[in-house]
Amino acid sequence: MFTLETAATAAYVVAALLFILALAGLSKHETSRAGNTFGIAGMAVALIATIALALARHIEPLGLALLAAAMAIGAAIGLWRAKVVEMTGMPELIALLHSFVGLAAVLVGWNGYLHVEGDAAGAEAALLNSEGMLGIHSAEVVIGVFIGAVTFTGSIVANLKLSARIKSAPMMLPGKNLLNVGALVVFAALTVWFVIDPQLWLLAVVTVLALLLGWHLVASIGGGDMPVVVSMLNSYSGWAAAASGFLLGNDLLIITGALVGSSGAYLSYIMCKAMNRSFISVIAGGFGIEAGPADDKDYGEHREINAEGAAELLSSASSVIITPGYGMAVAQAQYGVADLTRKLRARGVNVRFGIHPVAGRLPGHMNVLLAEAKVPYDIVLEMDEINDDFADTDVVLVIGANDTVNPAASEDPGSPIAGMPVLTVWNANNVIVFKRSMASGYAGVQNPLFFRENTQMLFGDAKDRVDAINAELSVTERV
Ligand code: NDP
Repeated sequence: MFTLETAATAAYVVAALLFILALAGLSKHETSRAGNTFGIAGMAVALIATIALALARHIEPLGLALLAAAMAIGAAIGLWRAKVVEMTGMPELIALLHSFVGLAAVLVGWNGYLHVEGDAAGAEAALLNSEGMLGIHSAEVVIGVFIGAVTFTGSIVANLKLSARIKSAPMMLPGKNLLNVGALVVFAALTVWFVIDPQLWLLAVVTVLALLLGWHLVASIGGGDMPVVVSMLNSYSGWAAAASGFLLGNDLLIITGALVGSSGAYLSYIMCKAMNRSFISVIAGGFGIEAGPADDKDYGEHREINAEGAAELLSSASSVIITPGYGMAVAQAQYGVADLTRKLRARGVNVRFGIHPVAGRLPGHMNVLLAEAKVPYDIVLEMDEINDDFADTDVVLVIGANDTVNPAASEDPGSPIAGMPVLTVWNANNVIVFKRSMASGYAGVQNPLFFRENTQMLFGDAKDRVDAINAELSVTERV
């Protein structure tokens, strides 16, 4: 028989499929808009189905009013924030949104407890007891509250660090790894205790423990590592949502939570691999690049070039690869770089981009900036797609990148970044490095690329320098 309940279940399946299509779409530039649309459609279907279900279950007028008010306020804040957020403020906004998911999971868990275990004489407790399911419910409560509370405080610390409202340096409590492991062991013991004897104070202790653990996990991590942390918290928020799904008996929440949890974990894994870091140490919260020992090796002299010389070199090139990094984002040089690309392509130069998976400070940072500046997608290639082509390239422009083009990663086993896959720019005929000084990059490691025979340094702010080259090229165009 057709009921609103079966219609809602069908709508949940459709929403789940739309979420999977959204993830598939978001994995490629060309399809990312479609992916976003699928995500929005999936969320609309899910919301409508959930409200319809609530109506079918005869929600009280007060409940309905609260639901409508919560949705209206949430939608208004969401629309406003998404409209005003700068691209550079995206990670902290995402961190804040994760904290909401965590808080929601804590509230759902506590609500579950108060309705069932906390109301032992109530109908729900009696029903679950008769089915022998009360212990499972208690486990869902305590696990959901734990994951939610870790996500909540972890995300708040991430947000505060990213927005520079607290110091970004890692907090170094003595025996920090032991503290984390100890907290997990205590949590496991309390979970068993709570399942056997679900008392209010036990849940309160688990909540406080998880809030402290979330705070400590993220506070122990240096500011520069925050992108990995945000992706990790993304994963945690997914698991928190899945835990709420079990408690609420909502299949869609379980599926969506699992999708978010696993894709976030996979993204963290990809980022760790690209930085040659151990995934386990990352999820244990005890990570952070330790700057290597001071490097006093003599690399010789570096050579410099000016914008005029760079423009001349580019004019005579037939193939150019641009490898952008964090400095391009800082300088906001992407528009000038897009302009330069147009100019060179108009002269028949084969211009392509080589993007390192962790170039910048968040995954996809460079891709988003280049897309924003309208650089065609098909000339923006991943590291693996372009690494073999450097040897046949006339000029490589390294724009505000450092660690991601450091030959020491593949040539010096003693380097702190040894083993990190890098763009092999040094194989090209000429390399021009845009940066302001000889300072090291994020990993704090000297870069022997700057001292190679085929490398020339173009000092100054990346935007200024790119604009100066563009001006030179415009002059030669007119002549
Ligand atoms: P790096 O931090 O290695 O280098 C950036 C370079 O840009 C610096 O050498 C700096 O030199 C230069 N720079 C800064 N501002 C400007 C400016 N205004 N104009 C010109 N140059 C400028 O960046 P990469 O992108 O090469 O590497 C990313 C690093 O971040 C890697 O170590 C990676 O592991 C790490 N990381 C990346 C994450 C991600 O998800 N993408 C996550 C966490 C860490 P100078 O000061 O001399 O100008």
